[in-house]
Amino acid sequence: MSDDKQHFKVSKHKDYLYVIKENISVVHPAYRNDPLNMYLLLGTHTALLLDTGCGLYPLKPVVDELIGERNLLVFNTHAHWDHVLGNEEFGEVYIHTKEVNFINRPYDMSYLKDSPCEIVKKYEEKNFLIPPARNINILKDGNVFDLGEINVKIIHTPGHSPGSICLLTSTGELFTSDVAYYGDQFLPKRKDFPKVLITLSKLIELCEKQKDLELYPSHRKYPCDKTLLTDLYNGIKNIKNLWDTKKAFDFFYAWQIDDIKFRYYISR
Ligand SMILES: [Zn+2]
Repeated sequence: MSDDKQHFKVSKHKDYLYVIKENISVVHPAYRNDPLNMYLLLGTHTALLLDTGCGLYPLKPVVDELIGERNLLVFNTHAHWDHVLGNEEFGEVYIHTKEVNFINRPYDMSYLKDSPCEIVKKYEEKNFLIPPARNINILKDGNVFDLGEINVKIIHTPGHSPGSICLLTSTGELFTSDVAYYGDQFLPKRKDFPKVLITLSKLIELCEKQKDLELYPSHRKYPCDKTLLTDLYNGIKNIKNLWDTKKAFDFFYAWQIDDIKFRYYISR
């Protein structure tokens, strides 16, 4: 098999749900949240791809093989590099209005210039400027998309980033993007923690109303349940008690704090 095909690991999780996994640590060892999970939902007439990955190898042929004759919608959960660098392969990409300005221009990956990883040459070939999607559409809180026998609803969940979204399906899945996963957490400055906590409470409330919801995070383990949200909520609440243990982590220009369940990188 070629490198292209080996790079992505595709698995059929349900009749209508594929997971396309990509290891992101291949670009720099500081990224430890392997794998990135991209999700592909198949409705009867439309497919929905959630995120486009690191842009190292062609993703579209992998997706095309799975969706048959269906139309394809492509959403970015947010504009961080590991979720958007494949955008250029797709004609049209949807993102929350607050993050359009990160993906409507070439994406600057020059901070990886000194990476010890060979694969970064793929970015170097593009002068570390990864081209954007040709067309960008806006997502808003409450938007509903009909895929044919599956509806998906957009929930705006700011905190991890200003325009982060989660996706709630009529079939009982909650795609939590980078708002919640078991892995290293990238958090905003401490003064913005209330935003993160409000978002997590909103999702916890949703899980209390809809008890059988399955959570599908954009990194590492899936499916998860409500415990992921409460673990993260309690962990972030407790950071103030661990503040004296913080270490500077310059690659992310962040403070690093560890507890039993998570590592937190907090913007400085
Ligand atoms: Zn991510």
